[in-house]
Amino acid sequence: MKTIKMSPISYCFGVTKAIGEALKIRKLYPDSNIYFFGDLVHNEKVIEFFNSLNINVIPFNKENAIEKLEYFQKGDLVIFSAHGHNKSYEKILIDKGITFFDTTCIKVKKNLEIIKNSKKDVIFVGKNNHPETIASLSYSNKIHLYDISNNFKFDYSLIKDEDPLVVNQTTLSFIELNNIFSDIKLHLPKAKFIDEICDASRIRQQKILDLPKDVDLVIVVGDKKSSNSTKLYELSLKNNLNVKTLMVNDVSELDSYDLTKYKVCLLASGTSTPISIIKRIEEYLNSEEYKK
Ligand code: SF4
Repeated sequence: MKTIKMSPISYCFGVTKAIGEALKIRKLYPDSNIYFFGDLVHNEKVIEFFNSLNINVIPFNKENAIEKLEYFQKGDLVIFSAHGHNKSYEKILIDKGITFFDTTCIKVKKNLEIIKNSKKDVIFVGKNNHPETIASLSYSNKIHLYDISNNFKFDYSLIKDEDPLVVNQTTLSFIELNNIFSDIKLHLPKAKFIDEICDASRIRQQKILDLPKDVDLVIVVGDKKSSNSTKLYELSLKNNLNVKTLMVNDVSELDSYDLTKYKVCLLASGTSTPISIIKRIEEYLNSEEYKK
């Protein structure tokens, strides 16, 4: 099988930076208890790697976050994820005398600043309980979530300004977002749209739509928890109707598929997928191991 590797592939700069910072912290504090508050990035292989360095994840959701923060003891080091975090978590740690590190990506930070500085109502378009959504909702008391999983249901009576600001999670699909923006424009024609899908996601989405003609198989390598990997997969599934689309996070997952009938594969990945996994899959396809 011929394989075409999408460019860009593997980590975006935000993920590269967050992983680099976490490694640096482990090196600087070799004997400390270090924890991620939520996944540093959404890929289980990356998390397994950090577990091997004795950095473990304390998972949380918006309901139990405060309770989970109580877990930390003086002397522990806490690393917040690349997706951002609720600002009030910092105060809780400061009050407990716990040192924390913020690896929030600058693209997410830019949105958080816009939300913080808005005098108008803000509609945040995102996935409920995603860390970026939890972070964004904490930056204004005039912000309301337009949940992408809610099938265009949003309570517009919550919005008092006729020209609210509309900010979105950075890793959504632009097609999905355009449809939601149309719905908002219908109800609030004067709304102002920030439209901040990060380029790292947008370029990959565009490339998955502009498939070379001979491609008959798309493999998205990424974790199901990764928003941008899932969006790539869904985009291909919906738009590349004559092409088989798969999503895996390890070469072993390909064993359950019959790949012998495909001739040209586009290999794509989410922005938190390690290059080692992609290379192993590429090798598997090129050496035709799937025929054995
Ligand atoms: S996908 Fe974009 S917003 Fe998210 S970490 Fe990467 S560069 Fe930052």
